[in-house]
Amino acid sequence: MSEKMEFQTEVTKLLDIVINSLYSEKYIFLRELISNASDACDKLKYWSLSNPGKFKQEGEFKITVKPDEKENTLIVSDNGIGMNREDLIKHIGTIAKSGTAEFVNNAKDNGSVVDLIGKFGVGFYSAFMVAKKVEIITRKAGEDKAWKWTSDGLSGYEIEEAKRDSNGTDIKLFLKDDAKDFTDSLYLRHIIRTYSDHVEYKIVLDLGKAGEETVNTASALWTRNKGDITEEQYKEFYHHITKNFDDPWMTLHFKAEGSIEYTGLLYIPSTAPYDLFQPDRQQSLKLYVNKVFVSDKIEGLMPAYLRFVKGVIDSSDLPLNISREMLQQSTLLAKIRQGTVSRILKELKKRKADYDDYLKFWEAFGTAFKEGIYEDFSNREEVAGLSLFYSTNDENKLTSLDEYISRAQAEQKSIYYITGDDVPTLRNNPQLEAFKEKGIEVLLLTDPIDEFWTQTLTNYKTFAVKHISQADIDLKIERKEKRAPEGSLTKLTSLMAEMFKNEVGKVEVSEKLTKSPAALNVAAGQMSIHLERLMRNHGQQTAFASTRILEINPYHPLIVKLAEMIEDETNKSEVSDVAKLILDQAKIAEGEAVSDPSFFAEKMSEYILKGM
Ligand code: ADP
Repeated sequence: MSEKMEFQTEVTKLLDIVINSLYSEKYIFLRELISNASDACDKLKYWSLSNPGKFKQEGEFKITVKPDEKENTLIVSDNGIGMNREDLIKHIGTIAKSGTAEFVNNAKDNGSVVDLIGKFGVGFYSAFMVAKKVEIITRKAGEDKAWKWTSDGLSGYEIEEAKRDSNGTDIKLFLKDDAKDFTDSLYLRHIIRTYSDHVEYKIVLDLGKAGEETVNTASALWTRNKGDITEEQYKEFYHHITKNFDDPWMTLHFKAEGSIEYTGLLYIPSTAPYDLFQPDRQQSLKLYVNKVFVSDKIEGLMPAYLRFVKGVIDSSDLPLNISREMLQQSTLLAKIRQGTVSRILKELKKRKADYDDYLKFWEAFGTAFKEGIYEDFSNREEVAGLSLFYSTNDENKLTSLDEYISRAQAEQKSIYYITGDDVPTLRNNPQLEAFKEKGIEVLLLTDPIDEFWTQTLTNYKTFAVKHISQADIDLKIERKEKRAPEGSLTKLTSLMAEMFKNEVGKVEVSEKLTKSPAALNVAAGQMSIHLERLMRNHGQQTAFASTRILEINPYHPLIVKLAEMIEDETNKSEVSDVAKLILDQAKIAEGEAVSDPSFFAEKMSEYILKGM
């Protein structure tokens, strides 16, 4: 008895995109099916080795591709883990990955297939680019029943009991009329060699009477010698394990020998994945023990800040028959991590020499990478040294800390930074005026993460790392302009302090401002205004809000004038209006909202009109 089922809505949409696409690289379906078949063999290999005695695999693992020119069909078979009824319903017919489902929901036109493939790969569903009907016959290892799943990719699918002699899966494609090419053995051989050569199981082309022929090299790519692997093969393997369609920005293949032996084949993609900033920050390196795939969810194999690194770690020194939890805690794993991290950092250091090239990496992953400055205790300085920042030095080029140091002034002992929402606003922050005047470079930091690493990286090499509010050098500037008289200034600061007592803790005369009449600051050592704002935006109460300091510029004509006016009682209400506007200006320059927008707007118009 066959049972009719509906696809999940997202799957219907995805299939609609896949079937109706004019995507020309239809042959990718074969690499997707072979990739699934290889994963299925991986899973069974691990399962039977970690549960000894439960299951015995007959013969070696292999993947068979069988074309039938007369029937216009193609069968891709494996003797891997197989699927039972629940697996079929859960894995084929629903999209588990939240990002893919979301993306599909938002995809509008047929052109999206390229994007879809680019971002997620469409996996099994790509079969419908070439097939008008797909039939799966599968039997799960260790179970007696087999199942048949059929679908035309349009009207849901059917499941019924079936027969299969042993565990594994056959995916039979009833090819569309315009997909006859995929029964041509020459063409198939070519596609398999090009895109699936790295698969570690034999891929056999079954040509019926003409016999069987193994098409690929069938040895795990990372176990081969570097010299025997072409760049294309490295790339294809990258596509296979990441399901990404971009090219890797970095490929790192190494064998570590010593107290523990392991091989790594690692990649850094050239584009950031959609889930780089998911809260779980899961790493996803695939761990193999002596070529047996264990898991791609081993915490502790890669630190979170390097979660974008993809690839394989294989070690024959790790035990296979312990639980993943125990493996995670093993000191051997920690050693592998340390060794691998330092290789990655070393490689990044080499690549950093070429600014334009390195910038590609930085733009994709820099924000995540910087998490390492406060997370990776033992490599803190190295990670900081590999990071790039905007600064007041060059609008068009990011700087490293070492470059900053090389430009520092003779008496300068600190690297200065300021934090805020965006670079253009920061560049005009009044707090920077004295630094600009003195030619002291300041880093302009705008990522939320910057608020955190700056708390932990108090020194870099021989330099302290300091917020500009904690500058310990003399920022006094030679002045030729008129300064407001001391007595009136005192009156003005006390008036403002009284007026704004709910908003600022102190009003001070500052020698550091050149262009602006006033600026907001916080006392040394307190949480920056930017961090406070970030926390507020995340709904976190800032119980210990920092004390704001309103600094006024005694040389600014506006302050000079105000100081003059304060000496005459009849100006009282105007002085108070202008004082309010001055505070508002300072707030705006900090990226903060003004306290009373309608007052601000009204007074601005009034004064603009006066000036016109
Ligand atoms: P992905 O491979 O990215 O998970 P697919 O759509 O290609 O997505 O496959 C969905 C799921 O179906 C797989 O994760 C796997 O659980 C199952 N599957 C697909 N092909 C096979 C196969 N040949 N053998 C066993 N399970 C399979």
